[in-house]
Amino acid sequence: MWWRDPLRKRIEAELVVEREGWAVERARRVTDRLQGKLPEHDRFETIVIRSDDHNAFTAPGRTIYLSRRLLDSLPDDAAAAFVVAHELAHHHLGHVSGRYAGGAMFDEPIAAHEHELHADLHAIELCLAAGYEPERCIVALQMLDAILLDAGDLEAVLGAEHDREGEITRRGYLPVRERIARVQAHVSAYRSGARIVNTLTAERDQVARRRMRVALMAVGSIAATVALVLLRRR
Ligand SMILES: [Zn+2]
Repeated sequence: MWWRDPLRKRIEAELVVEREGWAVERARRVTDRLQGKLPEHDRFETIVIRSDDHNAFTAPGRTIYLSRRLLDSLPDDAAAAFVVAHELAHHHLGHVSGRYAGGAMFDEPIAAHEHELHADLHAIELCLAAGYEPERCIVALQMLDAILLDAGDLEAVLGAEHDREGEITRRGYLPVRERIARVQAHVSAYRSGARIVNTLTAERDQVARRRMRVALMAVGSIAATVALVLLRRR
């Protein structure tokens, strides 16, 4: 199916892709566990690439790319899971053209940092649904915080005092400390039944329905849990 994954073809031709070892095993293990509830045709694969950057990204297709350098900086499976889950979330939420994209979630274009926030929140939902300890997952964002501080990028961590909104728009992300706080707050919201797709669904149109179904299947829908309990009581 790689003809539908044009970036992967190029990356495999032009970059060093790791094929074995602990980093590859960790990437594979967490990607499988995060998608445990999804059928084969809805699943993605993560590959580990050699790069000087600490990064993770995805593109139209079925692949998530994780740099070895980033994996080296993450202490365990849970932290790596958050990074993979964030990229999966961009697909589930329809931010990437391809499998789940059937038109934008909203008619109005939405700001990049909003997409990133939604991806963070759906990512922690995926991690919780897969049974990872949320505080250990959030270590991924704390490592990013440390990497940015080390590089002297205080505004990426704390935001810009003089031009908060402008800085967020230019970067396409909320300041890392705010991302951490929003994800932490979403852990308790998730446990009370909140799901980011349900929140977004309030404003969605028909086109988004299949995407919602898959995203909810992945994080465990409250409605399905209730139905199961009712069936058992009969
Ligand atoms: Zn992102």
